[in-house]
Amino acid sequence: MKQYDFLIVGAGLFGAVFAREMTRMGKRCLIIEKRKHLGGNIYCENIAGINVHMYGPHIFHTNDETIWNYVNSFVGFNHFRHTPIACFKGMLYNLPFNMNTFHEMWKVKTPREAEEKIQEQVKQAGITVPRNLEEQAISMVGTDIYRILIQGYTEKQWGRKATELPRFIIKRLPVRFTYDNNYFNDKYQGIPVGGYNKLIAGLLADIEVRTNVDFFRYREEFCNMAETVVYTGCLDEFYDYRFGRLEYRSLRFEHEVLEVPNFQGVAVMNYTEREIPFTRIVEHKHFEFGTQPLTVITKEYPEEWTSGKEPYYPINDEKNNQRLKEYSALAKKERNTIFCGRLAEYKYYDMHQVIAAALKKTKMISNYGAVPIPAAGVLSTDS
Ligand code: FAD
Ligand code: UDP
Repeated sequence: MKQYDFLIVGAGLFGAVFAREMTRMGKRCLIIEKRKHLGGNIYCENIAGINVHMYGPHIFHTNDETIWNYVNSFVGFNHFRHTPIACFKGMLYNLPFNMNTFHEMWKVKTPREAEEKIQEQVKQAGITVPRNLEEQAISMVGTDIYRILIQGYTEKQWGRKATELPRFIIKRLPVRFTYDNNYFNDKYQGIPVGGYNKLIAGLLADIEVRTNVDFFRYREEFCNMAETVVYTGCLDEFYDYRFGRLEYRSLRFEHEVLEVPNFQGVAVMNYTEREIPFTRIVEHKHFEFGTQPLTVITKEYPEEWTSGKEPYYPINDEKNNQRLKEYSALAKKERNTIFCGRLAEYKYYDMHQVIAAALKKTKMISNYGAVPIPAAGVLSTDS
């Protein structure tokens, strides 16, 4: 018998939930993490008494009561509501696209006037079946909002023309004909009281974790230590990039401590014009209604991903999705390795979806009742 039932590569949200649930079932788990800290991209650092989201602003939201109760069993959540503001050439607009935005854009007051304005612009653009992000956006909110609030932001965020990007990216955003600035439609929303590290600490309590350890440096030794490997790193790296690299978009974060109590009055301000190199400024204290005398802000600069940088956003265009199919075919054949999470599935997952995927996977394993589970490669974890 090997020393561990599961070797989990990556201490992000997927790895942490998976380890917690398997430990509950009496399985022996070891997590290795190549970064110096736990939590993957939800990790926070305390600067001047403020929890700073080190890898971009993270707002927890879900419609699923089970997932909400699950996270709340580790840490309480506050009542934060995400109501970001967009800034274009000094003018401010409410997000997501709602009656406030339409009023700011066109001075319309009623939903009917707003709908008519949008329909007129969609008609003028001649779009019937949208084929890419640009056409999808115009068909949702018309040409004015596309040009002012979407095109510049999207093209700097992704480093590609909006006409070359898939439609699903913009379909994430709600469009509403009510005066409601809540960025999400979900029933539950909030930030962990005391920050995301509390959630990770709760999930990983009493679980063996080794940080600063890269799986690929000791691959053979680690594989020999455990019955099953749960891999949450990049899928192409696992196969030594044999079909070429899966591309990502990376980000650079510039953090600053400012000697003012309140810099921008909102947690997230998007800068939608092309000429400004960052996409947004995050003022972290607002996530937790902080009253500290100082504030911490982060400017987020999108960057091309190259080896050595953090891979943040999978680029699910045709070329990369085709490559993903080749890697997934190999992964499906693995008997003792499970590939899950944002990097291993090369999928734009939110936190609640990653948690749902981990709970689903652990349930499947417990139902099967033994490891290794059959055909343990990539499994669809849509939720
Ligand atoms: P990760 O957090 O990436 O964890 C994977 C871990 O594996 C990492 O810690 C990595 O270092 C480690 N690893 C990789 N390779 C190796 C190796 N070879 N050896 C050892 N360790 C390795 N979701 C929301 O719900 N709301 C939001 O507001 C939100 N905002 C976001 C903003 C940004 C900028 C980004 C990038 C993501 C955002 N998300 C948000 C998504 C959220 O971050 C993810 O859903 C979640 O963190 C994914 O967890 P994961 O475990 O799959 O991946
Ligand atoms: N987006 C935009 N303008 C904005 C905010 C978002 O054009 O002010 C577009 C952009 O293409 C982005 C997508 O909407 O990639 C999804 O936005 P979301 O806020 O969901 O992005 P996240 O950072 O959470 O991935």
